[in-house]
Amino acid sequence: MTATLDTRAGAPVPADTDRLAASDRVIAGLDLPTGPGFAVLDPATGERIATVPDLDVDAALEGVRVADELGRTWASTTSRYRADVLRRWYDLLVEHADDIALLISREMGKPLAEARGEVVYGTDFVRWYAEEAVRPGGNLRDVPTGGATLLTRRASVGLAVLVTPWNFPLAMATRKIAPALAAGCPVVIKPAELTPLTTLLAVRLAEEAGVPAGLVQVVTTTEPAAFSEAVLRDPRVRKVSFTGSTAVGRQLLRLASENVLRTSMELGGNAPLLVFDDADLETAVDGAYAAKMRNGGQSCIGANRIYVQDGIADAFVEGLAEWMASARIGHGLGDRVDLGPLIDDRAVASQGRLLGDALARGAEMRVGGTAPDGPGSFFGATVLDRVPADAELVRSEIFGPIAAVQRFGTQAQAIERANDTPFGLAGYVFTQDLDRAFTVADALQTGLVGINQGVPSNAAAPFGGVKQSGLGREGSAEGLEEYQEVRFYNLARRVTD
Ligand code: NAD
Repeated sequence: MTATLDTRAGAPVPADTDRLAASDRVIAGLDLPTGPGFAVLDPATGERIATVPDLDVDAALEGVRVADELGRTWASTTSRYRADVLRRWYDLLVEHADDIALLISREMGKPLAEARGEVVYGTDFVRWYAEEAVRPGGNLRDVPTGGATLLTRRASVGLAVLVTPWNFPLAMATRKIAPALAAGCPVVIKPAELTPLTTLLAVRLAEEAGVPAGLVQVVTTTEPAAFSEAVLRDPRVRKVSFTGSTAVGRQLLRLASENVLRTSMELGGNAPLLVFDDADLETAVDGAYAAKMRNGGQSCIGANRIYVQDGIADAFVEGLAEWMASARIGHGLGDRVDLGPLIDDRAVASQGRLLGDALARGAEMRVGGTAPDGPGSFFGATVLDRVPADAELVRSEIFGPIAAVQRFGTQAQAIERANDTPFGLAGYVFTQDLDRAFTVADALQTGLVGINQGVPSNAAAPFGGVKQSGLGREGSAEGLEEYQEVRFYNLARRVTD
Protein backbone atom coordinates (compact mmCIF):
# COMPACT_ATOMS: atom_id res chain seq x y z
CA MET A 1 0.00 0.00 0.00
CA THR A 2 1.58 3.29 -1.00
CA ALA A 3 -1.37 5.69 -1.00
CA THR A 4 -1.64 8.35 1.68
CA LEU A 5 -4.66 7.87 3.93
CA ASP A 6 -6.25 10.97 5.40
CA THR A 7 -6.85 11.13 9.13
CA ARG A 8 -10.50 11.88 9.83
CA ALA A 9 -10.92 15.23 8.22
CA GLY A 10 -13.03 18.07 9.54
CA ALA A 11 -13.31 19.79 12.86
CA PRO A 12 -12.33 17.97 16.05
CA VAL A 13 -15.17 16.34 18.03
CA PRO A 14 -16.39 18.92 20.56
CA ALA A 15 -16.63 18.28 24.30
CA ASP A 16 -19.75 16.61 25.61
CA THR A 17 -21.64 19.43 27.35
CA ASP A 18 -22.54 17.39 30.46
CA ARG A 19 -18.92 16.34 30.97
CA LEU A 20 -17.74 19.88 30.37
CA ALA A 21 -20.16 21.19 33.01
CA ALA A 22 -19.05 18.43 35.40
CA SER A 23 -15.39 19.39 34.93
CA ASP A 24 -16.31 23.05 35.59
CA ARG A 25 -17.89 21.93 38.88
CA VAL A 26 -14.72 20.05 39.85
CA ILE A 27 -12.64 23.16 39.16
CA ALA A 28 -15.05 25.37 41.13
CA GLY A 29 -14.79 22.85 44.00
CA LEU A 30 -11.07 23.54 44.27
CA ASP A 31 -12.00 26.95 45.79
CA LEU A 32 -8.98 28.59 44.22
CA PRO A 33 -8.19 31.99 45.73
CA THR A 34 -9.48 34.94 43.74
CA GLY A 35 -7.01 37.61 42.73
CA PRO A 36 -3.95 37.72 40.55
CA GLY A 37 -2.34 34.57 39.27
CA PHE A 38 -1.70 32.70 36.07
CA ALA A 39 -4.16 31.12 33.69
CA VAL A 40 -4.65 27.40 33.20
CA LEU A 41 -5.94 26.75 29.68
CA ASP A 42 -8.02 24.03 28.07
CA PRO A 43 -5.64 22.89 25.31
CA ALA A 44 -8.56 21.78 23.13
CA THR A 45 -10.05 25.28 22.97
CA GLY A 46 -7.42 27.68 24.27
CA GLU A 47 -9.95 28.94 26.84
CA ARG A 48 -8.99 29.86 30.38
CA ILE A 49 -10.41 27.33 32.82
CA ALA A 50 -8.84 28.56 36.07
CA THR A 51 -6.47 31.07 37.61
CA VAL A 52 -3.98 29.81 40.18
CA PRO A 53 -1.66 31.79 42.45
CA ASP A 54 1.71 32.68 40.94
CA LEU A 55 3.86 32.13 44.01
CA ASP A 56 7.19 33.92 44.35
CA VAL A 57 10.43 32.78 45.93
CA ASP A 58 9.47 34.09 49.39
CA ALA A 59 6.29 32.02 49.33
CA ALA A 60 8.25 28.95 48.21
CA LEU A 61 10.75 29.38 51.05
CA GLU A 62 7.89 29.83 53.51
CA GLY A 63 6.57 26.51 52.15
CA VAL A 64 9.97 24.94 52.89
CA ARG A 65 9.84 26.30 56.46
CA VAL A 66 6.34 24.99 57.19
CA ALA A 67 6.94 21.57 55.59
CA ASP A 68 10.25 21.21 57.43
CA GLU A 69 8.63 22.01 60.79
CA LEU A 70 5.74 19.59 60.27
CA GLY A 71 8.13 17.01 58.86
CA ARG A 72 9.82 16.46 62.20
CA THR A 73 6.62 15.06 63.71
CA TRP A 74 5.77 13.14 60.54
CA ALA A 75 9.18 11.41 60.47
CA SER A 76 8.65 10.26 64.05
CA THR A 77 5.27 8.61 63.38
CA THR A 78 5.24 4.84 63.09
CA SER A 79 5.39 3.34 59.64
CA ARG A 80 2.02 1.68 60.31
CA TYR A 81 0.51 5.10 60.96
CA ARG A 82 1.89 6.48 57.69
CA ALA A 83 0.73 3.38 55.85
CA ASP A 84 -2.81 3.81 57.19
CA VAL A 85 -2.90 7.46 56.14
CA LEU A 86 -1.68 6.54 52.66
CA ARG A 87 -4.29 3.81 52.41
CA ARG A 88 -7.02 6.33 53.31
CA TRP A 89 -5.60 8.67 50.66
CA TYR A 90 -5.80 5.85 48.12
CA ASP A 91 -9.43 5.15 49.08
CA LEU A 92 -10.32 8.85 48.67
CA LEU A 93 -8.58 9.06 45.30
CA VAL A 94 -10.59 6.05 44.14
CA GLU A 95 -13.79 7.58 45.50
CA HIS A 96 -13.05 10.77 43.51
CA ALA A 97 -11.74 8.96 40.42
CA ASP A 98 -14.37 10.45 38.10
CA ASP A 99 -13.61 14.02 39.22
CA ILE A 100 -9.87 13.51 38.89
CA ALA A 101 -10.23 12.03 35.41
CA LEU A 102 -12.38 14.98 34.30
CA LEU A 103 -9.77 17.39 35.63
CA ILE A 104 -6.84 15.60 33.97
CA SER A 105 -8.68 15.55 30.67
CA ARG A 106 -9.66 19.20 30.91
CA GLU A 107 -6.29 20.68 31.82
CA MET A 108 -4.04 18.28 29.92
CA GLY A 109 -6.24 17.31 26.99
CA LYS A 110 -6.03 13.51 26.96
CA PRO A 111 -9.22 11.58 26.12
CA LEU A 112 -11.36 10.80 29.16
CA ALA A 113 -10.83 7.04 28.79
CA GLU A 114 -7.07 7.58 28.98
CA ALA A 115 -7.48 9.98 31.90
CA ARG A 116 -9.39 7.23 33.73
CA GLY A 117 -6.48 4.91 32.95
CA GLU A 118 -4.08 7.45 34.43
CA VAL A 119 -6.19 7.59 37.60
CA VAL A 120 -5.86 3.81 37.99
CA TYR A 121 -2.12 3.98 37.30
CA GLY A 122 -1.56 7.05 39.50
CA THR A 123 -3.60 5.87 42.50
CA ASP A 124 -1.81 2.53 42.36
CA PHE A 125 1.40 4.22 43.52
CA VAL A 126 -0.42 5.39 46.65
CA ARG A 127 -1.73 1.89 47.36
CA TRP A 128 1.69 0.39 46.64
CA TYR A 129 3.48 2.70 49.08
CA ALA A 130 0.75 2.23 51.70
CA GLU A 131 1.79 -1.42 51.55
CA GLU A 132 5.52 -0.71 51.25
CA ALA A 133 5.70 1.84 54.11
CA VAL A 134 5.79 -0.88 56.77
CA ARG A 135 8.78 -2.60 55.12
CA PRO A 136 11.50 -0.05 55.67
CA GLY A 137 14.38 -2.52 55.27
CA GLY A 138 17.49 -2.72 57.40
CA ASN A 139 19.44 -5.85 58.32
CA LEU A 140 22.07 -7.39 60.53
CA ARG A 141 25.39 -8.83 59.34
CA ASP A 142 28.71 -9.84 60.78
CA VAL A 143 31.98 -8.26 59.76
CA PRO A 144 33.79 -10.98 57.75
CA THR A 145 36.92 -10.88 59.93
CA GLY A 146 34.82 -11.19 63.10
CA GLY A 147 34.82 -8.96 66.17
CA ALA A 148 31.88 -6.79 65.13
CA THR A 149 28.28 -6.90 64.00
CA LEU A 150 26.82 -4.38 61.59
CA LEU A 151 23.27 -3.18 61.93
CA THR A 152 21.89 -1.27 58.95
CA ARG A 153 18.84 0.94 59.15
CA ARG A 154 16.95 3.10 56.70
CA ALA A 155 16.07 6.63 57.72
CA SER A 156 14.02 9.31 56.00
CA VAL A 157 16.21 11.38 53.70
CA GLY A 158 14.58 14.63 54.86
CA LEU A 159 12.74 17.38 53.01
CA ALA A 160 12.09 16.40 49.40
CA VAL A 161 11.52 18.88 46.57
CA LEU A 162 9.50 17.34 43.75
CA VAL A 163 9.17 18.83 40.27
CA THR A 164 6.69 17.26 37.85
CA PRO A 165 5.81 17.60 34.14
CA TRP A 166 2.43 18.18 32.51
CA ASN A 167 1.94 14.93 30.61
CA PHE A 168 0.71 12.73 33.50
CA PRO A 169 -0.54 15.31 36.03
CA LEU A 170 -1.67 12.73 38.62
CA ALA A 171 0.71 9.82 38.15
CA MET A 172 3.91 11.87 38.08
CA ALA A 173 2.85 13.50 41.37
CA THR A 174 1.73 10.36 43.22
CA ARG A 175 4.78 8.40 42.01
CA LYS A 176 6.88 10.87 44.03
CA ILE A 177 4.64 12.05 46.89
CA ALA A 178 3.58 8.57 48.04
CA PRO A 179 7.07 7.10 48.56
CA ALA A 180 8.27 10.38 50.10
CA LEU A 181 5.46 10.31 52.67
CA ALA A 182 5.91 6.58 53.27
CA ALA A 183 9.57 7.19 54.08
CA GLY A 184 8.68 10.02 56.47
CA CYS A 185 9.72 12.98 54.30
CA PRO A 186 8.04 16.38 54.19
CA VAL A 187 7.42 17.56 50.63
CA VAL A 188 7.47 20.72 48.53
CA ILE A 189 6.05 19.97 45.10
CA LYS A 190 6.10 22.24 42.06
CA PRO A 191 3.65 20.96 39.44
CA ALA A 192 4.01 21.99 35.80
CA GLU A 193 2.49 25.41 35.25
CA LEU A 194 0.36 24.01 32.39
CA THR A 195 -1.39 21.43 34.61
CA PRO A 196 -1.38 22.40 38.32
CA LEU A 197 -5.04 21.62 39.10
CA THR A 198 -4.82 17.82 39.41
CA THR A 199 -1.99 18.10 41.96
CA LEU A 200 -3.99 20.63 43.97
CA LEU A 201 -6.97 18.25 44.11
CA ALA A 202 -4.83 15.20 44.91
CA VAL A 203 -3.04 16.97 47.76
CA ARG A 204 -6.33 18.26 49.14
CA LEU A 205 -7.55 14.65 49.30
CA ALA A 206 -4.28 13.64 50.99
CA GLU A 207 -5.01 16.18 53.73
CA GLU A 208 -8.56 14.89 54.05
CA ALA A 209 -7.04 11.43 54.50
CA GLY A 210 -4.91 12.56 57.43
CA VAL A 211 -1.70 13.97 55.94
CA PRO A 212 -1.07 17.01 58.17
CA ALA A 213 -2.16 20.20 56.36
CA GLY A 214 1.00 21.86 55.06
CA LEU A 215 3.24 18.78 55.17
CA VAL A 216 2.90 18.64 51.38
CA GLN A 217 3.36 22.17 50.05
CA VAL A 218 2.18 22.81 46.50
CA VAL A 219 4.02 25.72 44.90
CA THR A 220 2.30 26.93 41.75
CA THR A 221 4.54 29.36 39.90
CA THR A 222 5.49 30.62 36.46
CA GLU A 223 9.08 31.13 37.63
CA PRO A 224 10.45 27.59 37.88
CA ALA A 225 14.09 28.63 37.54
CA ALA A 226 13.83 31.18 40.38
CA PHE A 227 12.03 28.53 42.46
CA SER A 228 14.75 25.92 42.05
CA GLU A 229 17.61 28.43 42.48
CA ALA A 230 16.22 29.48 45.87
CA VAL A 231 14.76 26.25 47.19
CA LEU A 232 17.55 23.84 46.25
CA ARG A 233 20.07 26.14 47.96
CA ASP A 234 18.08 26.08 51.20
CA PRO A 235 19.94 23.92 53.76
CA ARG A 236 16.68 22.38 55.02
CA VAL A 237 16.19 20.67 51.65
CA ARG A 238 17.89 17.26 51.33
CA LYS A 239 16.46 15.73 48.18
CA VAL A 240 15.26 16.69 44.73
CA SER A 241 13.23 14.40 42.50
CA PHE A 242 12.54 15.67 39.00
CA THR A 243 10.61 14.38 36.00
CA GLY A 244 10.95 16.36 32.80
CA SER A 245 13.37 17.18 30.04
CA THR A 246 17.05 16.26 30.12
CA ALA A 247 18.00 19.93 29.64
CA VAL A 248 16.22 21.02 32.84
CA GLY A 249 17.44 17.88 34.63
CA ARG A 250 21.02 18.92 33.95
CA GLN A 251 20.37 22.38 35.44
CA LEU A 252 18.87 20.83 38.56
CA LEU A 253 21.79 18.40 38.91
CA ARG A 254 24.19 21.35 38.80
CA LEU A 255 22.20 23.17 41.47
CA ALA A 256 21.85 20.02 43.57
CA SER A 257 25.61 19.61 43.58
CA GLU A 258 25.99 22.79 45.66
CA ASN A 259 24.20 21.31 48.67
CA VAL A 260 25.12 17.73 47.68
CA LEU A 261 21.45 16.74 47.52
CA ARG A 262 20.17 13.25 46.90
CA THR A 263 18.73 13.29 43.36
CA SER A 264 16.29 11.26 41.31
CA MET A 265 16.02 12.24 37.66
CA GLU A 266 13.38 10.87 35.29
CA LEU A 267 14.38 12.55 32.04
CA GLY A 268 13.71 12.44 28.33
CA GLY A 269 13.63 9.32 26.18
CA ASN A 270 13.98 8.24 22.56
CA ALA A 271 12.48 4.76 22.70
CA PRO A 272 13.25 2.25 19.94
CA LEU A 273 10.53 -0.28 19.11
CA LEU A 274 11.79 -3.36 17.24
CA VAL A 275 9.48 -5.61 15.22
CA PHE A 276 11.04 -8.82 13.92
CA ASP A 277 9.80 -10.97 11.02
CA ASP A 278 8.77 -13.66 13.52
CA ALA A 279 6.47 -11.31 15.49
CA ASP A 280 2.74 -11.87 15.70
CA LEU A 281 1.55 -9.12 13.35
CA GLU A 282 -1.58 -8.15 15.28
CA THR A 283 0.28 -8.03 18.60
CA ALA A 284 3.01 -5.89 17.05
CA VAL A 285 0.59 -3.43 15.43
CA ASP A 286 -1.53 -3.12 18.59
CA GLY A 287 1.56 -2.75 20.77
CA ALA A 288 3.15 -0.17 18.48
CA TYR A 289 -0.08 1.83 18.35
CA ALA A 290 -0.34 1.79 22.16
CA ALA A 291 3.33 2.64 22.67
CA LYS A 292 3.14 5.46 20.14
CA MET A 293 -0.29 6.96 20.76
CA ARG A 294 -0.67 6.83 24.53
CA ASN A 295 -1.25 10.42 25.57
CA GLY A 296 -1.25 11.53 21.92
CA GLY A 297 2.41 10.53 21.71
CA GLN A 298 3.33 12.83 24.59
CA SER A 299 4.97 10.21 26.76
CA CYS A 300 8.60 9.83 27.77
CA ILE A 301 8.39 6.12 26.89
CA GLY A 302 6.55 6.75 23.61
CA ALA A 303 7.82 4.68 20.65
CA ASN A 304 9.99 7.28 18.95
CA ARG A 305 11.84 5.10 16.45
CA ILE A 306 9.96 2.12 15.04
CA TYR A 307 12.37 -0.38 13.43
CA VAL A 308 10.68 -3.10 11.39
CA GLN A 309 12.39 -6.10 9.73
CA ASP A 310 12.09 -6.21 5.94
CA GLY A 311 9.96 -9.37 5.74
CA ILE A 312 7.09 -8.03 7.87
CA ALA A 313 7.48 -4.32 7.14
CA ASP A 314 4.83 -3.87 4.40
CA ALA A 315 2.14 -5.69 6.39
CA PHE A 316 3.08 -3.90 9.60
CA VAL A 317 3.01 -0.43 8.05
CA GLU A 318 -0.34 -1.17 6.44
CA GLY A 319 -1.80 -2.35 9.77
CA LEU A 320 -0.44 0.61 11.71
CA ALA A 321 -1.61 3.04 9.02
CA GLU A 322 -5.18 1.69 9.27
CA TRP A 323 -5.23 2.10 13.05
CA MET A 324 -3.71 5.57 12.95
CA ALA A 325 -6.04 6.76 10.17
CA SER A 326 -9.04 5.71 12.23
CA ALA A 327 -8.00 7.71 15.32
CA ARG A 328 -10.86 10.08 16.12
CA ILE A 329 -9.59 13.56 17.00
CA GLY A 330 -11.34 15.80 19.47
CA HIS A 331 -11.71 17.39 22.86
CA GLY A 332 -10.70 14.97 25.61
CA LEU A 333 -14.25 15.18 26.94
CA GLY A 334 -15.75 14.46 23.51
CA ASP A 335 -17.57 11.30 22.52
CA ARG A 336 -15.36 8.29 21.57
CA VAL A 337 -12.28 10.47 21.10
CA ASP A 338 -8.97 8.62 20.57
CA LEU A 339 -6.62 11.55 20.07
CA GLY A 340 -6.93 14.74 22.10
CA PRO A 341 -5.11 18.03 21.53
CA LEU A 342 -1.40 18.42 22.10
CA ILE A 343 -0.50 20.40 25.17
CA ASP A 344 -0.09 23.76 23.37
CA ASP A 345 0.52 25.45 20.02
CA ARG A 346 4.29 25.17 20.40
CA ALA A 347 3.90 21.39 20.45
CA VAL A 348 1.85 21.54 17.23
CA ALA A 349 4.47 23.74 15.55
CA SER A 350 7.18 21.28 16.62
CA GLN A 351 5.29 18.37 14.94
CA GLY A 352 5.04 20.39 11.74
CA ARG A 353 8.74 21.18 11.80
CA LEU A 354 9.83 17.57 12.49
CA LEU A 355 7.49 16.28 9.79
CA GLY A 356 8.74 18.80 7.20
CA ASP A 357 12.35 17.87 7.96
CA ALA A 358 11.67 14.11 7.64
CA LEU A 359 9.80 14.54 4.33
CA ALA A 360 12.51 16.79 2.93
CA ARG A 361 15.05 14.06 3.69
CA GLY A 362 13.01 11.43 1.87
CA ALA A 363 10.57 9.88 4.35
CA GLU A 364 7.32 8.60 2.79
CA MET A 365 4.05 9.78 4.30
CA ARG A 366 1.38 7.08 4.65
CA VAL A 367 -1.16 8.80 6.87
CA GLY A 368 -2.08 12.26 8.02
CA GLY A 369 0.38 15.06 8.42
CA THR A 370 -2.31 17.63 9.01
CA ALA A 371 -3.47 19.90 11.80
CA PRO A 372 -7.29 20.26 11.75
CA ASP A 373 -8.76 23.73 11.27
CA GLY A 374 -10.08 25.80 14.10
CA PRO A 375 -8.95 26.64 17.64
CA GLY A 376 -7.14 24.21 19.94
CA SER A 377 -3.72 22.60 19.70
CA PHE A 378 -4.52 19.64 17.43
CA PHE A 379 -2.31 17.56 15.16
CA GLY A 380 -3.49 14.55 13.20
CA ALA A 381 -2.18 11.01 13.64
CA THR A 382 0.63 10.55 11.13
CA VAL A 383 2.60 7.57 9.79
CA LEU A 384 5.92 7.95 8.02
CA ASP A 385 7.63 5.01 6.35
CA ARG A 386 11.29 4.61 5.27
CA VAL A 387 12.39 7.46 7.52
CA PRO A 388 16.07 8.21 6.90
CA ALA A 389 18.37 7.81 9.89
CA ASP A 390 19.52 11.44 9.68
CA ALA A 391 16.00 12.90 10.12
CA GLU A 392 15.72 15.15 13.15
CA LEU A 393 12.85 13.15 14.62
CA VAL A 394 15.09 10.09 14.80
CA ARG A 395 17.49 11.94 17.06
CA SER A 396 15.05 13.94 19.21
CA GLU A 397 11.88 13.19 21.14
CA ILE A 398 8.87 13.58 18.82
CA PHE A 399 6.41 13.99 21.71
CA GLY A 400 3.42 13.87 19.39
CA PRO A 401 1.36 11.56 17.17
CA ILE A 402 3.90 10.96 14.38
CA ALA A 403 4.86 7.29 13.99
CA ALA A 404 8.28 7.12 12.31
CA VAL A 405 9.06 3.73 10.73
CA GLN A 406 12.50 2.63 9.59
CA ARG A 407 13.30 -0.77 8.08
CA PHE A 408 16.14 -3.15 8.92
CA GLY A 409 17.65 -6.40 7.66
CA THR A 410 19.42 -8.18 10.53
CA GLN A 411 19.06 -8.37 14.30
CA ALA A 412 22.57 -6.97 14.75
CA GLN A 413 21.72 -3.92 12.62
CA ALA A 414 18.54 -3.30 14.58
CA ILE A 415 20.32 -3.43 17.94
CA GLU A 416 23.10 -1.15 16.79
CA ARG A 417 20.67 1.47 15.48
CA ALA A 418 18.41 1.18 18.53
CA ASN A 419 21.34 1.94 20.85
CA ASP A 420 22.65 4.80 18.71
CA THR A 421 21.30 7.52 21.02
CA PRO A 422 22.42 9.22 24.22
CA PHE A 423 19.03 8.34 25.77
CA GLY A 424 18.02 5.07 27.39
CA LEU A 425 14.59 5.06 29.02
CA ALA A 426 12.36 2.48 27.30
CA GLY A 427 12.67 -0.03 24.47
CA TYR A 428 10.23 -2.51 22.93
CA VAL A 429 10.72 -5.87 21.25
CA PHE A 430 8.14 -7.80 19.25
CA THR A 431 9.03 -11.40 18.41
CA GLN A 432 7.60 -14.86 19.11
CA ASP A 433 11.05 -16.34 19.60
CA LEU A 434 11.79 -16.45 23.32
CA ASP A 435 15.56 -16.59 22.86
CA ARG A 436 15.47 -13.57 20.58
CA ALA A 437 13.25 -11.68 22.99
CA PHE A 438 15.76 -12.05 25.83
CA THR A 439 18.86 -11.59 23.65
CA VAL A 440 17.53 -8.34 22.21
CA ALA A 441 16.10 -7.07 25.52
CA ASP A 442 19.50 -7.71 27.17
CA ALA A 443 21.27 -5.85 24.37
CA LEU A 444 19.07 -2.75 24.50
CA GLN A 445 20.65 0.05 26.54
CA THR A 446 17.44 1.11 28.29
CA GLY A 447 16.07 1.02 31.83
CA LEU A 448 12.96 -0.91 30.80
CA VAL A 449 11.85 -3.11 27.92
CA GLY A 450 8.31 -3.95 26.82
CA ILE A 451 8.33 -7.47 25.34
CA ASN A 452 5.35 -8.04 23.04
CA GLN A 453 3.50 -5.20 24.71
CA GLY A 454 3.34 -1.42 24.41
CA VAL A 455 2.43 -0.30 27.94
CA PRO A 456 5.12 -1.60 30.31
CA SER A 457 4.63 0.83 33.25
CA ASN A 458 3.30 -0.47 36.56
CA ALA A 459 3.50 0.69 40.20
CA ALA A 460 5.27 -2.59 41.00
CA ALA A 461 8.04 -1.90 38.45
CA PRO A 462 11.28 0.05 39.10
CA PHE A 463 10.75 2.69 36.40
CA GLY A 464 13.73 4.75 35.26
CA GLY A 465 16.36 5.32 32.63
CA VAL A 466 20.01 4.72 31.88
CA LYS A 467 22.43 6.99 29.97
CA GLN A 468 21.04 10.55 29.73
CA SER A 469 17.49 9.41 30.54
CA GLY A 470 18.06 9.65 34.23
CA LEU A 471 19.16 8.51 37.64
CA GLY A 472 17.24 6.47 40.19
CA ARG A 473 14.01 4.51 40.02
CA GLU A 474 10.35 5.23 40.77
CA GLY A 475 7.72 2.68 41.78
CA SER A 476 8.36 -0.68 43.50
CA ALA A 477 10.54 -1.15 46.59
CA GLU A 478 13.40 0.69 44.85
CA GLY A 479 11.23 3.81 44.65
CA LEU A 480 11.01 3.96 48.45
CA GLU A 481 14.80 3.71 48.79
CA GLU A 482 15.12 6.95 46.82
CA TYR A 483 13.70 8.70 49.91
CA GLN A 484 15.79 6.83 52.47
CA GLU A 485 19.38 6.99 53.70
CA VAL A 486 21.07 3.75 54.66
CA ARG A 487 22.92 4.07 57.98
CA PHE A 488 24.89 1.48 59.89
CA TYR A 489 25.89 0.89 63.50
CA ASN A 490 29.05 -1.09 64.14
CA LEU A 491 28.69 -3.08 67.34
CA ALA A 492 32.00 -4.29 68.80
CA ARG A 493 31.86 -7.94 69.89
CA ARG A 494 34.44 -8.90 72.47
CA VAL A 495 35.13 -12.57 72.85
CA THR A 496 34.10 -13.72 76.34
CA ASP A 497 34.33 -17.19 77.77
P1 NAD B 1 10.25 20.43 31.24
O1 NAD B 1 11.60 19.96 31.62
O2 NAD B 1 10.14 21.62 30.38
O3 NAD B 1 9.39 20.75 32.54
C1 NAD B 1 9.21 19.81 33.57
C2 NAD B 1 8.98 20.54 34.85
O4 NAD B 1 10.16 21.26 35.17
C3 NAD B 1 7.86 21.58 34.83
O5 NAD B 1 7.22 21.57 36.08
C4 NAD B 1 8.61 22.89 34.65
O6 NAD B 1 7.93 23.99 35.19
C5 NAD B 1 9.84 22.61 35.47
N1 NAD B 1 11.00 23.42 35.19
C6 NAD B 1 11.40 23.97 34.01
N2 NAD B 1 12.55 24.65 34.20
C7 NAD B 1 12.87 24.52 35.51
C8 NAD B 1 13.93 24.99 36.33
N3 NAD B 1 14.94 25.73 35.84
N4 NAD B 1 13.93 24.67 37.64
C9 NAD B 1 12.96 23.90 38.16
N5 NAD B 1 11.92 23.44 37.45
C10 NAD B 1 11.89 23.73 36.13
O7 NAD B 1 9.52 19.17 30.60
P2 NAD B 1 8.01 19.08 30.11
O8 NAD B 1 7.94 19.71 28.76
O9 NAD B 1 7.05 19.52 31.14
O10 NAD B 1 7.85 17.50 29.99
C11 NAD B 1 8.28 16.80 28.90
C12 NAD B 1 9.60 16.12 29.18
O11 NAD B 1 9.50 15.32 30.35
C13 NAD B 1 9.98 15.17 28.08
O12 NAD B 1 11.37 15.28 27.82
C14 NAD B 1 9.68 13.80 28.67
O13 NAD B 1 10.41 12.75 28.12
C15 NAD B 1 9.99 14.02 30.11
N6 NAD B 1 9.30 13.04 30.93
C16 NAD B 1 10.04 12.07 31.52
C17 NAD B 1 9.43 11.10 32.27
C18 NAD B 1 10.23 10.01 32.90
O14 NAD B 1 9.71 9.36 33.80
N7 NAD B 1 11.47 9.78 32.50
C19 NAD B 1 8.04 11.14 32.47
C20 NAD B 1 7.30 12.14 31.87
C21 NAD B 1 7.97 13.11 31.10
